[in-house]
Amino acid sequence: MSRSEQLFKQAQSFIPGGVNSPVRAFKAVGGTPIFFQKAQGAYLYDVDDQRYVDYVQSWGPMILGHAHPDVIQAVVDKLQYGLSFGAPTEIETTLAEQLCDIIPGMDLVRFVNSGTEATMSAIRLARGVTGRDKIIKFEGCYHGHSDSLLIKAGSGALTMGVPSSPGVPASLAEHTITLTYNDIEGLKQAFAELGDQVACVIVEPVAGNMNCVPPVPGFLEAIRELCDQSGSVFIADEVMTGFRVSLSGAQGHYGVTADITTLGKVIGGGMPVGAFGGKREIMEQIAPLGPIYQAGTLSGNPVAMAAGLTNLGLIQADGFYQALTAKTQLLVDGMKAIALDKGIPFTTNNVGSMFGFFFTEETKVTNYSQVMACDIERFNRFFHLMLEQGVYFAPASYEAGFMSQAHTQDDIEFTLSACEQAMSKL
Ligand code: PMP
Repeated sequence: MSRSEQLFKQAQSFIPGGVNSPVRAFKAVGGTPIFFQKAQGAYLYDVDDQRYVDYVQSWGPMILGHAHPDVIQAVVDKLQYGLSFGAPTEIETTLAEQLCDIIPGMDLVRFVNSGTEATMSAIRLARGVTGRDKIIKFEGCYHGHSDSLLIKAGSGALTMGVPSSPGVPASLAEHTITLTYNDIEGLKQAFAELGDQVACVIVEPVAGNMNCVPPVPGFLEAIRELCDQSGSVFIADEVMTGFRVSLSGAQGHYGVTADITTLGKVIGGGMPVGAFGGKREIMEQIAPLGPIYQAGTLSGNPVAMAAGLTNLGLIQADGFYQALTAKTQLLVDGMKAIALDKGIPFTTNNVGSMFGFFFTEETKVTNYSQVMACDIERFNRFFHLMLEQGVYFAPASYEAGFMSQAHTQDDIEFTLSACEQAMSKL
């Protein structure tokens, strides 16, 4: 029995399913989750000291690679002054100012502790300012696990929400409308029917929770236009894409500005930080300025802010994003070439350093049904074949992958040679 297997067994005695977030359990791919003991740069090291080239990066935050010395130093320096005060600190303003400078349309920003809190609060704010209850989301987009957002998409263009988890009241779920990602006509139709009841549209501007699915041209623009016409709030959930697909996120990349942006992952540099911010007149409705309540004991935690601020400084280096994008392209093009050579139906998507690969006959994957129609069995075998060779992709076929600054040309070549081996056995 490996040490991971032993630890997983022990964990299951005290933690539901042995994990503190479900996807870590390897339920989708089968087998035992790897327990890690340390991470450095592009690599994770498991409890048996096996090294893995990591394309999960803690699900996105580690854009500089793991344990960047400057980020670690900033945390060490800061924590000597105390861990939390529950009172304002200067560093919160410093980070907030930078976010307002970088993120399109961000006049004011509030820090929280996770992406879930950011989107949950943004939805409350949108409902509060519009006085409307209905929200529109898209099939395959994940916005955290708050009740209004944990709604299953049904078939058909316009689905009145059905909860995807017991514990979400049907009376709440019915306010969530789930539409097909990238279906501009479906969106127009929904607004024609219900526009004046819609508090907000929330979208992952590049979807990263149904593998990696970029927006088709005109999709984000249509959301902007329809929200403007009907007085609904446009929420860009950039928890994953923020500082990832470009410095100014997907909104900067595509030139579309939302009313509220939610952030997480990269802004904390690996510490628990989320944020939501946007137009001044909307954000001024939040307590204590306005009547819409939102709060957090540990929000704006100084140690987490120090990690985030240092991270943010480093990703603004010249050529940072160009280098990341070039490496990502090298990886996905290499994988595609190997699949083609082996006669394996395969395609890829990538925006900046966020990428996805699909075992499918389709040449382009643009929505959830196409993702779900991929050969999941083949993905699962590929995942394990790569893992055995020391390459860690996300343990589910519906997750995006991430490149970091720390990945080298050698790491990519190593990955491609493992891919060559794995695909030979598929
Ligand atoms: N929104 C998006 C787009 C996400 O990718 C995630 C997490 N994967 C969340 C929200 C929720 O963030 P957290 O897990 O930090 O609560």
